[in-house]
Amino acid sequence: MRRLSVVLSMGFLVPIALAAQAAPPASPQPPQQILIKAGRLIDGRSDQAQANIGILVEGERIKAVGPLAQVQGQARTARIIDLSQMTVLPGMIDAHTHILLQGDPTAESYNQQLLYESTAYRAILAARNARLALEHGFTTMRDVETEGAMYADVDVKLAINRGEVPGSRLFVSTRAMAPTGMYPIVSTNWELELPHGVQPVDGVEGARLAVREQVSHGADWIKYYSDRRYYFTADSVLHSWVNFTDDEARAIVDEAHRLGRRVASHAIGSDGIAAALRAGVNSIEHGDGLTDSLLDVLVAKGVYWVPTVTVSQYVAGPRGGVWGPMVAAQRRAFQHALRKGVKIVAGTDVGGFPWTEINQAKEFEYYVQYGMTPMQAIKSGTSVAAELLGQQDNLGAVSPGLFADMVAVAGDPLRDITELQRVKFVMKGGTVYLSQ
Ligand SMILES: [Zn+2]
Repeated sequence: MRRLSVVLSMGFLVPIALAAQAAPPASPQPPQQILIKAGRLIDGRSDQAQANIGILVEGERIKAVGPLAQVQGQARTARIIDLSQMTVLPGMIDAHTHILLQGDPTAESYNQQLLYESTAYRAILAARNARLALEHGFTTMRDVETEGAMYADVDVKLAINRGEVPGSRLFVSTRAMAPTGMYPIVSTNWELELPHGVQPVDGVEGARLAVREQVSHGADWIKYYSDRRYYFTADSVLHSWVNFTDDEARAIVDEAHRLGRRVASHAIGSDGIAAALRAGVNSIEHGDGLTDSLLDVLVAKGVYWVPTVTVSQYVAGPRGGVWGPMVAAQRRAFQHALRKGVKIVAGTDVGGFPWTEINQAKEFEYYVQYGMTPMQAIKSGTSVAAELLGQQDNLGAVSPGLFADMVAVAGDPLRDITELQRVKFVMKGGTVYLSQ
């Protein structure tokens, strides 16, 4: 694999006095133009792929997209990147990640990280993970909590945005929330004060304060745990114990929305999902226990579902018990959701499985197995994901005005969705990070 060196788009500092003396003043350098020749383009929004397309990139954004001959005409001095033998797609988006976690199929593997690894060490691994994701074609991730590593996700995001390390664009949720005693680590030894995987939050005022704290420290999203302790009843409905009172959950959502932040809710059982929907969340995470009537509420309220099938499949074996039947329940719910037109966004829960073991694009393979067309699966990780993030004017499509975030694969992902697990070219914000 050949990794191109990262070209930073930071301007040079020109001493103001010198610039003022120069006569005549030099006209500013026009931004660098790149013309990408795409053999085939899946733009993230259209239902059809298009052949022989030119994509003109200027600086960090896309300037023009159209038939190659036409775009070539307005790009005479542009540097050429020839992807005429490849399929070009928008950079992929994973809407459910944990960069600060390295897999937690069991309680022991989770506790090991929180008890024996410093936040500094975990942040180094997080930066490594963000680079791995980028090289796999995930140019954007919504990271939904640090699992005890406080606000380290904000630091990793800053370092990426400042060009100090290569990595995906991050939308971060910082600490997440659950009430006292309802999230690990909980010990029978009451003399020990153990690290918390989340910020423990109690009461309506506590909920509003926690949202304000997290936003003040850089949270782009608010995440809370709606439920725990999952079990099936004889009618095959997956139930759960609900964490927050309705008043507390509403306070979290209301305060987040007041501060311009959207809310993601971990909700696996039908009771937890119903509570999250009553509270007015923007996305249901996991959602294994979605019943037909709950799916109707998602459609009616325009709530997104982020299924995280990859992690469900990964932890079912090691965890045993109810986790196996939950995979089957989720698959059924997925098929019903497709029929009802629920907005499904790709999210893997990577970090729940090791970043180094499974490529996040595996999620799309599951979606096609579960009944999506390859094009639907691609949209779930591009344009629909960008909508969830409120970033449709910046991300999720190959279209003029948007960030030049693109990937290319050798084959046709509409025939074989696993092509997305073999990305050959990655551009983020007009900079090439991978070219094979
Ligand atoms: Zn998660």
